[in-house]
This record gives sequence, C-alpha cells and structure tokens, in this order.
Amino acid sequence: MRRKLVIGNWKMNGSLAANSVLLRGIVEGYAAKNADCAVCVPAPYLAQCQAELQGTPVAWGAQDVSAYAAGAYTGETAASMLQDFGCRYVICGHSERRAYHHESNELVAQKALAALNAGLTPIVCVGETLEQREAGRTNVVVCAQLQAVLDVLENPALEKIVLAYEPVWAIGTGKTATPAMAQEVHALLRKQVGERNPAAAATVPILYGGSMKPENAKDLLGQPDIDGGLIGGAALKAKDFLAIVDAGN
Ligand code: 13P
Repeated sequence: MRRKLVIGNWKMNGSLAANSVLLRGIVEGYAAKNADCAVCVPAPYLAQCQAELQGTPVAWGAQDVSAYAAGAYTGETAASMLQDFGCRYVICGHSERRAYHHESNELVAQKALAALNAGLTPIVCVGETLEQREAGRTNVVVCAQLQAVLDVLENPALEKIVLAYEPVWAIGTGKTATPAMAQEVHALLRKQVGERNPAAAATVPILYGGSMKPENAKDLLGQPDIDGGLIGGAALKAKDFLAIVDAGN
C-alpha cells in the first residue's frame, strides 16, 4: 500500500509575509493527517521554509535544479545547494520549464540524476499538450518522457523517484482529467517502470497534477494508481491545500 503524497507547487508566487501565513496555516492544520505533504517554493524562499518547517512533518523542496554540480552556470542552482537548505524534493521537467525554457527529455533526466546524486528526491513531471492528446499521441509522448529518465537512472535510483502526470491542458485551466483518464496514464507509466524494475513499479508514487482541488481530489486520489497530487493554484491557500491532503487519507 503506497502512502499518499500531496505536494504544493507554488510556482512563481509568494512573498516573505504571505509565505509565513501560508506555511503556518499548513503546519497547524496538518497535524495528525495520514498523507505526506510538502511544498515546493521559489528558490529564494528555501531558507524561510527551512526556518519555519524544520522539525514539523511538512517537507519542502525546489521547483528546478541544475544538471551540473557546480561551476560557470550563471543563474543555475546546484542540487547540493538545495540540500544545504534542507530540501527533500525538487521538481524536474515541469511542463512550464519544458515549454518556456526548452528543457528536453534528456536534460530533465540529467536533472533528476543530479538531484538523486545529492540525496534529493526528484519529482519527474510528464504530460501531453492538448494538441498531442487530440492527435492520439498521449501515450507516445509520456512514455518517451519517462523513457529518457529510465535510460539514465540505475535500478536502485529508480526506486527513489516520484513521478507526476500533469496533462498540460489541465494545468491552471480549471479542466481536470477525469479520474479514468488520469488512471489510464498512471497505469501505463507504472507498467513502463515495471518493465525495467518491478520493485520500483510497486513503490514509486505517481502524482496527478492539473486543476486538482478539494472538490475533485477524492475521486482522483481514489484511483488505484494515483498516489497523490502536485497542486498549483489550490496550494496557495492553506485551507484548500489541507482539504486535498485530507482527501488522501
Ligand atoms: P494547477 O493546480 O494550478 O492546475 O497547477 C498544476 C501544476 O502545474 C502543478 O505542478
């Protein structure tokens, strides 16, 4: 039985003052919940998360990481630096980075590897655009995105990742994949992991992301291969975020 995992992806939102209210709200409301939870925040706020979340059951992480360990890469953040600020997680290959920063499947895989090498858990995102779905290419697209990661990670490392299926057309649009649509892709991803490493397939959490909110969380999280959520908009209010965490109980 995989434990549910609900992660907030704050994207480029927040301020020291607003974060403080949100983090406190999450910590206070989270006590005694059964699902694991974490927040992935903009890099400048990692120190704030470390100060406010250390010693609480709420974990934190970043939204991107460099594929390189150190050196002349202006603007990049190394995995070891995220480790310095107590991160457990880092999102790799979010569709917004794939789209706006031209991250390829291969680069995303290298980022996941860099994260693992520093002892972080990469949350590897895959997902198809509306155009790709309508062209019947969903499975081909997500399998290629996952395959690039399988090509780079050794079997033991594969057991330490988190996957997230985020259909691009469902992100920030209010359109959610139906539980059945999401389940179908999650099962496919798990099967693909299993062909390489059956142990990893049994344990790797596969999160759903894309307009997940309190009203639809229970149905999505009730699917056999949906192990949690990667939450955007609804993660910016403690009440909504906690309601989704609750739905995972
Ligand atoms: P929304 O929940 O705002 O649709 O965003 C989902 C997402 O991209 C999480 O990474």
